[in-house]
Amino acid sequence: MFEYAPAPESRAIVDIKPSYGLFIDGKFVDPIESGGFKSINPATEETLAEIAAGTSADVDAAVAAARRAYDKVWGPMSGSERAKYLYRIARLIAERSRELAVLESIDNGKPIKETRDVDLPLVSAHFFYHAGWADKLDHAGYGDSPRPLGVAGQVIPWNFPLLMLAWKVAPALACGNTVVLKPAETTPLTALVFAEICQQAELPPGVVNIVTGAGDTGAAVVSHPGVNKVAFTGSTAVGRNIAKAVAGTGKKLTLELGGKAANIVFADAALDQAVEGIVNGIFFNQGHVCCAGSRLLVQESIADEVLERLKRRMTTLRLGDPLDKNTDIGAINSAEQLSRIRELTAAGDAEGAQPWSPDCQIPDTGFWFAPTIFTGVQQAHRIAREEIFGPVLSILTFRTPDEAITKANNTPYGLSAGVWTEKGSRILWAAQQLKAGVVWANTFNKFDATSPFGGLKESGYGREGGRHGLEAYLDV
Ligand code: NAD
Repeated sequence: MFEYAPAPESRAIVDIKPSYGLFIDGKFVDPIESGGFKSINPATEETLAEIAAGTSADVDAAVAAARRAYDKVWGPMSGSERAKYLYRIARLIAERSRELAVLESIDNGKPIKETRDVDLPLVSAHFFYHAGWADKLDHAGYGDSPRPLGVAGQVIPWNFPLLMLAWKVAPALACGNTVVLKPAETTPLTALVFAEICQQAELPPGVVNIVTGAGDTGAAVVSHPGVNKVAFTGSTAVGRNIAKAVAGTGKKLTLELGGKAANIVFADAALDQAVEGIVNGIFFNQGHVCCAGSRLLVQESIADEVLERLKRRMTTLRLGDPLDKNTDIGAINSAEQLSRIRELTAAGDAEGAQPWSPDCQIPDTGFWFAPTIFTGVQQAHRIAREEIFGPVLSILTFRTPDEAITKANNTPYGLSAGVWTEKGSRILWAAQQLKAGVVWANTFNKFDATSPFGGLKESGYGREGGRHGLEAYLDV
């Protein structure tokens, strides 16, 4: 049985305003047409703040501000000058990381252990890394004059709100572009505090603009004729619409979309580590992870043992208050996402797979889903094919390495995969055979600003991070 131990003192370090405007041209402004929505705490269902809903008129104003800043200030500025601003932003994020971690956990539902130890360190590292590039681009082998693209329109999802912002904003700014970014409607708060950080860093007005709103606001950003580059992270369905909207406009496009990653455990794997990797692969961030290891492929000869160890490990997972530092499984981000998870797990039941969850006390309010595994999963089942985006693992078995690869690649997605084996040659072989943008060996869900991240097939195109990520924001 899990204990529920709230830590109310953490809540006190964040100062959430009752309402937020749009951040355009260096200032918070009211939207041109009145209208807004609430951001809620998914663990308690309390309203956190009223958020402005930007319309296409607001997007016009944001793009105009970004264009002025690009033409007059940021585009002509030397790389070393831009680096100073990026270092300042990186330092301010590091200084305010405790506050930002708490705010992210409240707005998103993810455990403070993760926001504090994973999200925020990666966010500031991403700005530090790109600050380091800003003054070096001229000498990085791109020839004499790699040029920025202009105004970048960026739309991000709710699963890593501030980290996805960092992945978008840091490279864009380092390369000399200006930005209009739309955060996800269920998690706008850390982006709005980031806007305050831009003010604190005295970033020139218009270099970063944040326009909150729902999908229609995002559509206005990506289809705006003044936008030169579109960067989107989110679902494959919306990515497809964006690709259509951008087709023929000459805008550069990168898409980071969904996934259905295989985590493959061979019989010779170090099982203690592999079980940790399976748990981390699917239960980290409640499984709200594009590259989650949501399909476990385990070699038949060790399947029973892995299952037993996995169940034992799952009984130690603590579900509850995201602000409790002992929590492993936080809240599901929204009622909508919870019903999507329920729909797919019901389909798993109906198609004959067998679910199992540890004994788990679900809080009375908020959106929760117990960590769940399904055995007896067939490749044709919906839970083996569709992205659940929740703490739900589908377990399949294989006999030979070839069969493992065939099953792993039997998906329209191609974002990531994991391989657990003590045999180095098998790792290299599997990495070549797997149709995935990222392959982890004897680890899972590891991210680093220096490494390019991105997908194949319906997981999208373009890379974020590393030198390859910069090329998405440069005319080289
Ligand atoms: P989503 O596609 O529903 O929404 C993403 C963003 O797009 C939101 O800000 C939303 O308001 C906006 N949007 C919705 N309709 C739009 C439109 N027509 N035009 C422009 N913008 C629009 O996705 P989500 O539910 O927020 O996020 C979950 C999805 O994101 C999952 O599929 C996940 O795999 C994917 N994801 C991918 C990566 C990656 O790097 N590949 C990372 C994180 C999440």
